[in-house]
Amino acid sequence: MKKGLLIIMSGPSGVGKGTIRDLFIDDESLKLAFSISMTTRKPRNGEIDGVHYYFATKEQFEKNIAENKFLEHAEFVGNYYGTLYDEVERLRNSGKNVLLEIEIEGAKQVMEKCPDALSIFILPPSLEELERRIRSRQSEDEETINLRLLKAQKEMNLVLHYKYAVCNNHPKLAADIVALIIKRHMEE
Ligand code: 5GP
Repeated sequence: MKKGLLIIMSGPSGVGKGTIRDLFIDDESLKLAFSISMTTRKPRNGEIDGVHYYFATKEQFEKNIAENKFLEHAEFVGNYYGTLYDEVERLRNSGKNVLLEIEIEGAKQVMEKCPDALSIFILPPSLEELERRIRSRQSEDEETINLRLLKAQKEMNLVLHYKYAVCNNHPKLAADIVALIIKRHMEE
């Protein structure tokens, strides 16, 4: 059986990666599996452990770092986020194309370890629109929002390291473009 692709979908926090993902993840022709990350961030309203993230304590997370369990991990605005290596390999070996929806530092680590990974950067239509989207979540205090915005501005400079960049002007259109890119790479 052909090993599945490793797909990195990255971009600033609040750009709409999750919305885009929800619009193509169930397309069976793409044979996708979403890699569930581990994080020390507290669950938001409606987030379920083992579905959206594996929620962990700082101690549990650091134990996994010490045991080399992560394909990549990064600290983002005061919390750890990481991709579990075994989960990704198990899915890829079963022929699934594995989607990592991760921030830029982690994406860089994956690109270095797996140069064949298909990397896609999601761009916001503008920084003003990104700020509006982050604020509309109403889940964080002013300091955290400002940290996310500052980080986003720095992250945008890294777009040229990715194989593709897709602007999220219209989520459905962005999702269709990402799906097309994945299909094209499945044929290779
Ligand atoms: P949020 O707190 O909004 O769920 O996520 C914050 C940022 O962390 C987002 O850009 C999200 O894509 C990213 N993220 C989620 N899971 C991972 C992961 O496993 N590794 C890394 N490096 N970033 C992640």
